[in-house]
Amino acid sequence: MKGWESHCKKCGLCCHEKVIVDNTLVIDLDTYCEHYDVKTKTCKIYATRFIDSVRCKKVTLAKAMFAPYLPPTCGYVEWAKLKHIRFASLRILRLIHSKTPSNADDPDIFLDQYFY
Ligand code: SF4
Ligand code: SF4
Repeated sequence: MKGWESHCKKCGLCCHEKVIVDNTLVIDLDTYCEHYDVKTKTCKIYATRFIDSVRCKKVTLAKAMFAPYLPPTCGYVEWAKLKHIRFASLRILRLIHSKTPSNADDPDIFLDQYFY
């Protein structure tokens, strides 16, 4: 049986700064946790992240079900939706760059706006 953490797609989106404004989840691709490696989109302290980072929190079943700040593309959220146990309000996902021009958006990451 696959472990719980195998649901993570290692996209790194939850390691970025984010804010919810009305019906929109805004994730800033230019700001992120100090332990995040932006080139590889991975955590530099993955094995000890819950010890060495005060802010880093495990994605639990309850968060997969209810956390409004997890993006719709998150593997845990997708899993919860498949199981019909995702109860967070529907929101628009907007990816922004706060420190680089808007035309520098990485088209390979995700759609700029994603409705779910
Ligand atoms: S410590 Fe947590 S929030 Fe920071 S990069 Fe690692 S997994 Fe992401
Ligand atoms: S947003 Fe979800 S799938 Fe992406 S790194 Fe975070 S926990 Fe993993």
